[in-house]
Amino acid sequence: MKLVPNRECGSCTICCHHIPINQPDFVKLPNVDCEHLLKKGGCSIYQTRPATCAGWYCAWRFSDVIKDDWRPDKLGALIDISLNGVPDDFHTKEGIVIKILDKNKAFSNDDFLKFIAIMVNRGTAVTLSFGLDPGYSAASAFLNYELMPAVKKGTKKAILEVINGIMDQLEKFPKIKYRIEDGKLVTD
Ligand code: SF4
Ligand code: SF4
Repeated sequence: MKLVPNRECGSCTICCHHIPINQPDFVKLPNVDCEHLLKKGGCSIYQTRPATCAGWYCAWRFSDVIKDDWRPDKLGALIDISLNGVPDDFHTKEGIVIKILDKNKAFSNDDFLKFIAIMVNRGTAVTLSFGLDPGYSAASAFLNYELMPAVKKGTKKAILEVINGIMDQLEKFPKIKYRIEDGKLVTD
């Protein structure tokens, strides 16, 4: 994977907190700090970290479509590329998943709203994900079909109305609780 030059994780530890890991050699619940995460940032087992971590970067690290100042902790959202859940009628099989970490920060950023609108308009599948409770999964909603009429209208107000409505639904949606049993992530 080719990373964008001059972008470093620095003090961002978002992925080491939010992402669940379910590997034979290491298990971590979603939305909790990894036990190997150092207080100052960075990984205490960097050389031997699990494959999930070693091969994973958020889109900010490898896509220059994502703006320089959109490091997830600064943007209030973690953008990931995903091949899962893209409907068959989409011409591109690569979609983006946007996990909202701080909705006030993220959605007060006009450029970020524009980015979402451009992605929807050009036919990239966009999934919004929200849920920050420790040990619980986030809930997700596919944005494109619902957001497209507002994108065509082209006003920030229309786009925000739809996004806020979807965020309300995601907040209410029951989340799945995970626990660790016999070295594996399981649900009830
Ligand atoms: S979320 Fe992105 S920028 Fe932040 S630590 Fe993970 S890979 Fe680095
Ligand atoms: S093992 Fe290291 S890189 Fe992986 S989540 Fe934990 S702290 Fe982050």
